[in-house]
Amino acid sequence: MDLKGLKTALGENDPGAAMHALASRLYPLCRSITGNGVRQTLGILKETLPLTLSEVPTGTQVLDWTVPREWNIRDAYIKDSRGNRVVDFQAHNLHVVGYSVPVHAKMRLEELRPRLHSLPDKPDFIPYRNSFYKDDWGFCLTHKQLLALKDDEYEVRIDSALTDGNLTYGEITLPGTSREEILISCHVCHPSLANDNLSGIAVAQHLARYLSKVPHLYTYRMLFLPVTIGAITWLARNENDLGRVRHGLVLSLLGDSGPMTFKRSRKGDAAVDRAAAHVLKHAGKGGRVEDFIPYGYDERQFCSPGFDLPVGCLMRTPHGRFPEYHTSGDNLAFIKPENLEDSLATCLAILEVLEHDGVFVNLNPKGEPQLGRRGLYRAMADRTDGDWNEMSMLWALNLGDGKHSLLDVAERSGLPFGNIFRATEALRACGLMASADGLEKHNRENGK
Ligand code: ZN
Repeated sequence: MDLKGLKTALGENDPGAAMHALASRLYPLCRSITGNGVRQTLGILKETLPLTLSEVPTGTQVLDWTVPREWNIRDAYIKDSRGNRVVDFQAHNLHVVGYSVPVHAKMRLEELRPRLHSLPDKPDFIPYRNSFYKDDWGFCLTHKQLLALKDDEYEVRIDSALTDGNLTYGEITLPGTSREEILISCHVCHPSLANDNLSGIAVAQHLARYLSKVPHLYTYRMLFLPVTIGAITWLARNENDLGRVRHGLVLSLLGDSGPMTFKRSRKGDAAVDRAAAHVLKHAGKGGRVEDFIPYGYDERQFCSPGFDLPVGCLMRTPHGRFPEYHTSGDNLAFIKPENLEDSLATCLAILEVLEHDGVFVNLNPKGEPQLGRRGLYRAMADRTDGDWNEMSMLWALNLGDGKHSLLDVAERSGLPFGNIFRATEALRACGLMASADGLEKHNRENGK
């Protein structure tokens, strides 16, 4: 399970470009936590994925929350007295405060001014604002635009609708040989913001397409959710099945040029926390691991104490730590194909560790076994990729006491997980090691 395998399985030479192209297609849609923008987004994903869409009616009780009214918008503008659209939703959907109630009025600048949001310290960016859970309206504009507004009478129009409807989310289950699950989730509720939602969607879409084509141990449950209320809705409806979740990743902010960041699960030492730290360390690209805090993306919900799922968050530069965050500067030029590809490769490397980790036992534990006699040195020399070596075999054998998993061996030896895994495979092939599960079964069957 790696980038090379993905390219072969998908017949795609440049997954970075393909992910960027998907983000470009989704970019213009005006998404929010409910409404047609989310439906259109999931509809595009459905062209390539066996996605199941759920529609949950307004007013449905979900944990401590209630599914809100559905929000849709057709148009919005501020027109000056000569009829020019000085702020135009058609030019950029960030111009309207998300979930704005409909409005049509004439007002002087003075009266309109408290409804206008800009960023004086970033005068070229339109801010991203919402009013999800209270009836309000407003416009967002660049500070330069705001300063250019003259004292005039303006026509203000927001042609939106807040109606009883549904909350929409998408889900795919990709069965593995085990019913135990890896949960992968991304958010689909931000309008024209590229790093903050489209990068995660693009990486998740590629993962799902790949995982549907190759065999894997775990069953993958992939979620495309409106942030917070979507995750809470999904958790409320799937509470009885959460016992199957063994590992999880929230994907977000995967296209910027910063190094990878992994935010640990609330548990802090779950297998996914250790696997991600191991992968980032051995990638040698300055990746960072941070502790859990109850703020951020939907790991907040998955890691709430009543669920406490082993779910971490994979990103590049964390939210709020780059100037383009939640502004029109988070656009398609801000996310780069090569960064999307590196994020996808990192994600696959973490899944590879989770898929292959296990406990293996040295069947010849008294003294070192003679490796040369079994052709292992020759097999090693035949490999040109330096995938595994004598040290990895010696570590695998030495810690093959039934108490250490392959990830334990990798951590203690300082060697990459892949080396330990492949060394163990070679040792299994010549009968020197066996899976602890398999051995238990063997011993049981032979009455030992
Ligand atoms: Zn955001």
